[in-house]
Amino acid sequence: MSDYPLIRNVAEATNQADSVFEVITARALKQQPTLSFEFFPPKDEDGAGTLWRSYEKLLEASPDFVSVTYGAGGSNRETSLGVVDRMAKDVLTIGHLTCVGSTFDGTRETIRRFEDAGVKSILALRGDAPLADPDALAKGELKSALDLVELVRNETSLEIGVAAFPEVHPESPDMAHDSRVLALKQSAGASYAMTQLFFTVDAYLELVESAKQAGATLPIVPGVMPISNGARIIRMAEMSGAKVPQPLLDNLQSASEVEARTIGMDYSIRLARDLVEAGAPGLHIFTLNLAKAALEVARGAGLC
Ligand code: FAD
Repeated sequence: MSDYPLIRNVAEATNQADSVFEVITARALKQQPTLSFEFFPPKDEDGAGTLWRSYEKLLEASPDFVSVTYGAGGSNRETSLGVVDRMAKDVLTIGHLTCVGSTFDGTRETIRRFEDAGVKSILALRGDAPLADPDALAKGELKSALDLVELVRNETSLEIGVAAFPEVHPESPDMAHDSRVLALKQSAGASYAMTQLFFTVDAYLELVESAKQAGATLPIVPGVMPISNGARIIRMAEMSGAKVPQPLLDNLQSASEVEARTIGMDYSIRLARDLVEAGAPGLHIFTLNLAKAALEVARGAGLC
């Protein structure tokens, strides 16, 4: 028996749709937001145990789809494909795919492997050059996510999603620039976007408005990070360029580990609820391969 009583229909999780856009549209017609979870490929056997235990628990929440990250440079390609292969048997599964440092032929081969694994939707990303290979972007044949969107669109029938940045991509001059790039990706074939982590509902709403102004009308699903470990989230925010609001930062830094979890989770749940109330098409919860905090956020937002 789950610790988390379910509100959504469990049967819906196994009744697989063919695309994320289709699921978002179907849920929107019923005025329901989508619920989805992001996982990463485990690094070792212990990590694999944690991932699969969390995954089984999260499946009980009846997610509409899940996604699996992919290392820039393809370092974890086989693990990512293995995870995707197993999940795609249960639920609509998005394979993240990065192209930094990649050749066209190598990327074609990886896409074919994703298709063989049952993936119907690819999150087309550039990725960042690995620390060990700072010139990867210059050396690779694909130069931006747009190149990957075009490749997938021209050569497959896979659905395509792309990244969006409520706090502006660190290499971009401003949000208007990001929004123009998003509109180009939509014109090239992307049908939905998922966001980087962020901390205020206003950041998300500004992105959606700016995207619309630029002609990017695709649904933008906010990515929500449960703040179950203050120190880790502060580190991740720094890496992604997201700004932790000063009062939250002060509270997290002055609290004990246990208090910080309560403060952080209260904040994440409020943000998730506010996003749903503000009309976000769904929530994509970054699980970090852990079920408890992800379920608390989903449940707190009324999605399971
Ligand atoms: P791009 O769209 O190529 O953008 C990179 C920069 O170039 C931006 O500043 C953009 O504005 C600019 N740009 C792009 N095209 C143009 C153009 N035509 N004209 C002018 N400027 C342009 N990374 C991983 O390694 N693995 C993952 O699994 C992963 N998953 C992610 C999931 C989500 C939801 C998000 C938001 C990010 C994820 N990332 C992942 C991180 C992502 O790869 C990095 O943020 C990367 O720096 C940018 O990726 P992108 O796809 O937005 O790149």
